[in-house]
Amino acid sequence: MTKKVITRFAPSPTGFLHIGGARTALFNWLFAKHHGGEFHLRIEDTDRKRLTEGAVEAIHEGMAWLGLSHDGDVISQFEQRDRHVEVAQKLLAEGKAYYCYCSPEELTEMREKARAEGKPIGYDGRWRDRDPSEAPEGIKPVVRFKSPNEGQTVIHDKVQGTVTVENTQLDDMILLRADGSPTYMLSVVVDDHDMGVTHVIRGDDHLTNAARQAQLIEAIGWDLPVYAHIPLIHGPDGAKLSKRHGALGVEAYRDMGYLPSALKNYLVRLGWAHGDDEIFSEQQAIEWFSLEGIGKSPSRFDFVKLENLNGYY
Ligand code: GLU
Repeated sequence: MTKKVITRFAPSPTGFLHIGGARTALFNWLFAKHHGGEFHLRIEDTDRKRLTEGAVEAIHEGMAWLGLSHDGDVISQFEQRDRHVEVAQKLLAEGKAYYCYCSPEELTEMREKARAEGKPIGYDGRWRDRDPSEAPEGIKPVVRFKSPNEGQTVIHDKVQGTVTVENTQLDDMILLRADGSPTYMLSVVVDDHDMGVTHVIRGDDHLTNAARQAQLIEAIGWDLPVYAHIPLIHGPDGAKLSKRHGALGVEAYRDMGYLPSALKNYLVRLGWAHGDDEIFSEQQAIEWFSLEGIGKSPSRFDFVKLENLNGYY
C-alpha cells in the first residue's frame, strides 16, 4: 500500500504572506490535492525575537483569500519544543550527539582558522569524544549532532536532481542551544516526522539545510521525505524579488482589487508549466500538477502579465 501523501507549508511569521511563500503553499496544496492527500500548516515560530505582531493572522488571511485551506490543526513549532528536546536527549543517550563546552572565544578562533585555511566548516568537533568531566567551569554546554565525517549525503531531489554533499563539508551542528532551546534544524526534522510529512516542497534556499536534515533523519532512523526544492522567484530584471520590484505581500494584491483566482493562476505558472496552457481552472491545475513540471531555473515575476491576467478574470 502506498503511503498517503502529506505535504506542509511552514512559514516563519515575520511579516505578511510573501508572494514566494504563497507559491510554495500553492504547490504543496496542489500536490496534496492531486494525490488525494493532506496539506498541513505549521507556523515556524521558534525564533521569538523575530515574531511580528499580526504575522500569523496575515498568513491565515492570505491563505484563506487564495482558497488554500489546510487539513487538521495548525501546528505551532514553538509549542512542540519539549518533543524536540526529547529527541535530542535520545540522541545523546545513544551517543549520536554530545555536549560541547567551547567558549565563544574558542569558537571564533576555530572559525577564523577555518576561513584562513579555506575550509567550509567552522567547528572542528573537539568535544566529540571528550569527557564532560573535563568541562571548564561556568560554561553552559550546547548539544551537537555527531554528523558523519566521511562519505557523502545524497539527496534525490524531484526538482534539483541528485544533489551530493561531501560529509566533511558539514560540521557538527547544534541541536540544543546553551539555554536548552532546540534549533531550527532539529525542530523541522522532528515536526515533519511527527506530522507524517511525506513530501517536503519548499524554496531552494533550503537545499543546503536538506543535507543536514537528511543526516539527522538517518541517525534517528526515520524515513526520509521526498524533497522538491523550488527555484526562488526573481523580479523581471532577473534579480532576486525585492520590494523595489513591487508589492511582495499577498494582501497588497487583494487590497489593489486583484482577484484571488487571477493571482493563483499566475502563481501556479511561476516555475511550473503545463504545455503552452496559460489559463486554466483550479480543477485542471489539481489534475495536471506534478513535481516533474517544475523548472530548474528561477522564475520571473512579471507584474504586467499578472495585471493582464487579472483583466481576463
Ligand atoms: N520556515 C521556513 C521559511 O519560512 C521554511 C522551512 C521549511 O519549509 O522547511 O522559509
